Amino acid sequence: MNTKYETHEHDVLIIGAGGTGLRAAIEGLAQGARVGVVCKSLLGKAHTVMAEGGIAAAMSNVDKADDWRTHFRDTMRGGKFLNNWRMAQLHALEAPDRVRELEQWGALFDRTESGEILQRAFGGHTFKRLCHVGDRTGLEMIRTLQDRGVHQGIDVYMECTVTRLLKDGDRIAGAFAYWREQGRFVVFKANSIVIATGGIGRAWKITSNSWEYTGDGMALAYDAGAELMDMEFVQFHPTGMVWPPGVQGILVTEAVRGEGGTLRNKNGERFMERYDPKRMELSTRDVVARAIYTEVREGRGTEHGGAFLDISHKPAEYVKRKLPSMYHQFLELADVDITKGPMEVGPTCHYIMGGIRVVAETAQASVPGLFAAGEAAAGLHGANRLGGNSLSDLLVFGRRAGLAAAQHAKKTGTPAIDGAQIEQAERELLAPFDRAGGESPYQIHHDLQDVMQTLAGIFRTEQDLRRALTEIEKLKARAARMCVEGSRLFNPGWHLSRDIQCMLTVSEACTRAALVRRESRGAHSRLDYPKLDEAWGRKNNVIVQKGDSMELFEKPVPEIPDDLKQILAEDQ
Ligand SMILES: Cc1cc2nc3c(=O)[nH]c(=O)nc-3n(C[C@H](O)[C@H](O)[C@H](O)COP(=O)(O)OP(=O)(O)OC[C@H]3O[C@@H](n4cnc5c(N)ncnc54)[C@H](O)[C@@H]3O)c2cc1C
Repeated sequence: MNTKYETHEHDVLIIGAGGTGLRAAIEGLAQGARVGVVCKSLLGKAHTVMAEGGIAAAMSNVDKADDWRTHFRDTMRGGKFLNNWRMAQLHALEAPDRVRELEQWGALFDRTESGEILQRAFGGHTFKRLCHVGDRTGLEMIRTLQDRGVHQGIDVYMECTVTRLLKDGDRIAGAFAYWREQGRFVVFKANSIVIATGGIGRAWKITSNSWEYTGDGMALAYDAGAELMDMEFVQFHPTGMVWPPGVQGILVTEAVRGEGGTLRNKNGERFMERYDPKRMELSTRDVVARAIYTEVREGRGTEHGGAFLDISHKPAEYVKRKLPSMYHQFLELADVDITKGPMEVGPTCHYIMGGIRVVAETAQASVPGLFAAGEAAAGLHGANRLGGNSLSDLLVFGRRAGLAAAQHAKKTGTPAIDGAQIEQAERELLAPFDRAGGESPYQIHHDLQDVMQTLAGIFRTEQDLRRALTEIEKLKARAARMCVEGSRLFNPGWHLSRDIQCMLTVSEACTRAALVRRESRGAHSRLDYPKLDEAWGRKNNVIVQKGDSMELFEKPVPEIPDDLKQILAEDQ
């Protein structure tokens, strides 16, 4: 191997330091593996830290009738039965233990009067199920996992972006990355890699996601030969801020509705009566997002194109205690006191249910040595994710991925990396510096966000999706000519030029999968195919790289065993 690069060696390399990456690292270390964690931003600043409402786990602390079966059923129903049933089962079974473990490691949850972990209501969950810390649950989760991981001795490489997975024949051998500050290159050698890089929201214009969500992990895995699945299912959270323009898209947690917040249109109507009279504001996110969008489209929206969300009927002290971030967010960013009046809210691109296709038990992707979990992986949530089910997903499958990755590393000999792969990765990364007169990555990103927002958003049609694909092809051609100025030192334009390649890959995957799924299911709404289609209900969309293009094929959804079918059939 070429020795001109800074090189680090691990049994297990984890890409991403959110809830998934940290939980995987803790498990890998517990198995005796040498674990390294790489992340684009500072440790503790991953997306997970932004999570607000809570962690879904059937602890039955508040509603005694809750159990894993009901959680399993809710998750499958919410996902419109496209979920990997085994993942949904493992998730429901193991989430309570993962939460208790967090508590043992020092997480301080809100409490019931008898001292148990308090749980709140959330959309699509039959019972009060979300363990929370006010509306700052993600912060407590990251703090706890980080403390635990650091004490156990994880090696962390911060502000370091992985741009390519390296292989030894078919198997994973390591990763190529660069330090964001200095622009120097670094090579990681590893027997196993866990992708824990989160989602893709920055490809859309209005999004709750931070700058880190550019689909890197999915693009890295796809380039390395792994399969992506169900990429058409992108969740638009019903409630993002809509005003002022500079804060558009920032999340307004579902906990507002969980705590009794009501939605009204400009005429004062509680319009959810028209869309889901039984569950009203606590309907699933896909239904509420479409409801708000429809109200606006039909002329009943608020001044800035949203709906009113009101929690001011609750005592001011209660609102400030249960929703402190929301209180400050609106006061500071929109000059609105939510204890006195309503918030203006509208849909925002929030989460992707699709991602890297993995085996339920091990989180193993289709490339030997490659594992994926959390938002970067597909399967658990099917066509639509229930709120709170992501944080529990990170804990359950982060642990499983760390375990399986460590076991895989023990079984395999040290892989070899040929220098040509590394030099190729370096050339790709430096190419934008060598082009004169090309376009700025900022303009290309701006145009991609426009395309995805307007042509592959909440409501889709064949015509729009075909146009989106044509536009993405043009953007790919423009990206091949894009150029950056300056040096490799502290150069955000250069960083974006790399992120754009990932966003183009995942945007194309979403659009192609959305085009072929000719039905409406969960978060995927086709105006030209507005109904569920039974045949599509039995198929997952899978994408792999074939030469330079994407190949799509359908895979049957695994058959649900009879005992679980019975649980799904029960009425609750
Ligand atoms: C505002 C907000 C509120 C939310 N509230 C809730 C909630 O209450 N309950 C719930 O269940 N879910 C919630 N979610 C969803 C949930 O927070 C996320 O799905 C979850 O945190 C994703 O965790 P993760 O570990 O998969 O990824 P992340 O926490 O995003 O971590 C990704 C990591 O990957 C790193 N990374 C990415 N690309 C690279 C690369 N190329 N090289 C190196 N490192 C890389 C990043 O730096 C980061 O460390 C919320 C989401 C948002 C945006």
